[in-house]
Amino acid sequence: MLSPAPLPRAQALLEWYDRHRRALPWREAVRDPYRIWLSEVMLQQTTVAAVTPRWRRFLERFPSVQALAAAPWAEVAEEWAGLGYYARARNLHACAQAVAARGGFPDTVEGLRALPGIGAYTAAAVGAIAFGRAVVPLDGNVERVTARLAAIEEPLPGARPRLAALAQRWMEQAEAAARPADFVQALFDLGATICTPRSPACALCPWQAGCAGRRAGLAESLPRKAPKRARPVKYGVHFLLADAAGRLLLERRPPSGLLGGMLGLPGTPWREAPWTEAEALAHAPALLPASASWAAASGEARHGFTHFELRLTLRLARAPEGLNTAGEWLSPEAAAAALPGAMQKLLALAGGMLAGGVLAGGAGAVASPTLAPSPRKASGKRNTGRPA
Ligand code: SF4
Repeated sequence: MLSPAPLPRAQALLEWYDRHRRALPWREAVRDPYRIWLSEVMLQQTTVAAVTPRWRRFLERFPSVQALAAAPWAEVAEEWAGLGYYARARNLHACAQAVAARGGFPDTVEGLRALPGIGAYTAAAVGAIAFGRAVVPLDGNVERVTARLAAIEEPLPGARPRLAALAQRWMEQAEAAARPADFVQALFDLGATICTPRSPACALCPWQAGCAGRRAGLAESLPRKAPKRARPVKYGVHFLLADAAGRLLLERRPPSGLLGGMLGLPGTPWREAPWTEAEALAHAPALLPASASWAAASGEARHGFTHFELRLTLRLARAPEGLNTAGEWLSPEAAAAALPGAMQKLLALAGGMLAGGVLAGGAGAVASPTLAPSPRKASGKRNTGRPA
């Protein structure tokens, strides 16, 4: 195997960064590891545009790592709702508690890596940006820039260790090692604004002269990716129960597993075979009197997880007077704000039936919730190659 061409000079990128850096709110927080760590966790699988207002709002509610550590899980889950990849929120809370217990963040990559929920990428990013450690975190942007500069044609994910080793070699250059926080953020910015996945703007790139991928006419096709296997499909049936005041019954999901610890609509487990009506109804909240019945919402809600596609259908019913069901009753607006994306899609399925009074009984129509779009749908997300 031929060794790749040497990487171009770090100084050229730093000079470009000094002129063109993006103004991001977490960059104003000079060396505040809590704010930097929070931004890095939120940016995994989520775009800068979607993260920015949520990062600010999160900090208003939990202004320090101690405040986050002391908060009840339900409040953290509520604040995270709609950001997706909910294991990140559970890990964030556990990590805040570990940091608060030890009196602050460790300032080495190894120390950060030992915290709950902090993987290689986040430890390197926080180590470099907050503590000036000479490490290069490998996110999707750095992967792409490095693969193009060195014309690495080996597909991902197999090429990842080679790309990580190559990217780390920049820190052997004195200019990068002197400004590690700026250098890694310059790499992020180059990948996000110039060396973009489609149509890289090579004419504006400070490294165009040293880019082997550009010279070989390969830039846009790199990094190559191994063909994806088709994701299996899983099915579930969920139940929307509305009381006379229009409130909806939600339940807290078990702490581990997908959407763990988040609020959800009661329902079946998710499995690879569709549910028969009788099987599904065995998981429905009990209705009294027995003559009460569930109406089916038309259509299905589809939601992509990393390893499978989920297809959910919905049954709706009006809660009879005096029904004593365990769970939390929330207004449709509060439910829409608190529910994760997959469950928000179920509420959208129900929207017409709620507004049309199918569940209204004698109490008038139940208000239709206003649903926020899921931020994970936007493009340009940071991909650290690590499912959250
Ligand atoms: S020259 Fe083009 S392909 Fe190479 S690093 Fe710059 S933007 Fe990316």
